Amino acid sequence: MRIGRRGSLRVRLFLILLAVGMVPLLAVGSILVYSSGQNRIDSLLTELQYQSVALVGELEERDYIENMAQPVLSAEIEQLARFYRGRIILVDSNYRICKDTYLLGEGKYNISEEVIQCFSGSNSFRYDEEQDYLELVLPIAGKEETQSGVFVITASTEGIRAQGERLREQCTVAVLIAGVLIGALSLFLSTRFVRPLKKVARAIDESSQDSVGGDIQVEDCAETIQIAQAYNRTLARLRTLDESRQQFVSNVSHELKTPITSIRVLADSLIGQEEAPVELYREFMTDISAEIDRESQIIDDLLTLVRMDKAHTELNIAQVNINEMMENILKRLRPLAMKRNVDLVLESFRPVLADADEMKLSLAVMNLVENAIKYNVDNGWVRVSLNADHQFFYIKVNDSGIGIPESEWDHIFERFYRVDKARSRASGGTGLGLAITKSIISLHHGAIRVHSAEGEGTTFTVRIPRTYRRQEAET
Ligand code: ADP
Repeated sequence: MRIGRRGSLRVRLFLILLAVGMVPLLAVGSILVYSSGQNRIDSLLTELQYQSVALVGELEERDYIENMAQPVLSAEIEQLARFYRGRIILVDSNYRICKDTYLLGEGKYNISEEVIQCFSGSNSFRYDEEQDYLELVLPIAGKEETQSGVFVITASTEGIRAQGERLREQCTVAVLIAGVLIGALSLFLSTRFVRPLKKVARAIDESSQDSVGGDIQVEDCAETIQIAQAYNRTLARLRTLDESRQQFVSNVSHELKTPITSIRVLADSLIGQEEAPVELYREFMTDISAEIDRESQIIDDLLTLVRMDKAHTELNIAQVNINEMMENILKRLRPLAMKRNVDLVLESFRPVLADADEMKLSLAVMNLVENAIKYNVDNGWVRVSLNADHQFFYIKVNDSGIGIPESEWDHIFERFYRVDKARSRASGGTGLGLAITKSIISLHHGAIRVHSAEGEGTTFTVRIPRTYRRQEAET
């Protein structure tokens, strides 16, 4: 797989950390700049209102609109306008500007919306962000509850705007510095986070340089320990598999060589004897033929086993009358039993119908019954029984034979394993029979158990589900 396209975990982590650090910082910065500007405008407005109301009070008291020849008040008006770097306009009840600190509008009429609204009794204020000023409009009361005029004051907000700009610049510099720091920290952390994973990858790489691979150990954190353990477990399984494969190959070669060696010895000794009698030829050739039979038996068994070992061996499942199947097996083996005068009995406790691959299951049971006869004593007995409950059917093969020592019970299902090698070979055994039987029973999702006492006899018990579930086979 191409790594580049997948995107590196380090880059992802870096971007996430950077975003986590920068987004709140930018949000806080913007809120700060905006709210501080707003606060200053609010406090300027409050102050302006306070000062203006006080001045308007004085104007009302001295009836300034009617009598403007009051230098003290005029000076106060000029002073307030200057203080706020703005302008004060007084409009009389005829909408005529009677006082303008800029002197530009005096004598002209002011019929702006704010002034008209103010004459109908409502104060107003306006913040013009573009032109940078704050405007406050207040009514000036006259005698006997009349309104003699309107007080309009504008205050420059340029200073506030300049302060806002300065704050924004400072914030930008602070965010940039913080951004660089956060970036460096994110880079450091993301590199640190992925370091253990890189170590694991490196350790696996190094371990895979060997043919089978050595165990790895990355004790950086709990996760890497877990990955290393899982990898080591898989490796151990592969090693066992590799060993058993090698063992199997060497066993196969050995088993296949044995009959060939015998054939060669027999043939060589015939060749070595000049004018050997015909009887000797016949005897040796009979032995050679027996060895060839053995060789072909081993090859047949091996092929059966290999076919059974394929990951998804297809079973030919059909409903099988197990009682009939058992009777046929015993019928076929009866001549072998009679040779040694072994009593062969079948006990069927109930009729059993079950899902099975009849050919394969017959082979599995036949191996068990054949062994029971082969590893028996002369004049012994073999009892085969068939029983079932609603879920499983049970086949038991019990003999009066030589038995199997308890230490061998686990091994007899291994390929080419024989308890008594000489005896097994003498009786034509390949050491593959029980391995084949076990494979077939496993394919049917069944189980096989052995119980035996040396010199007394052996019992093999097979348990197989009556209904075959294909899903189980796939899992
Ligand atoms: P083989 O071809 O040698 O019979 P199997 O796989 O069928 O190979 O059996 C493995 C070994 O288990 C046999 O060699 C034999 O020693 C032992 N064995 C199997 N069945 C019996 C039995 N019923 N009684 C005693 N020993 C048995």
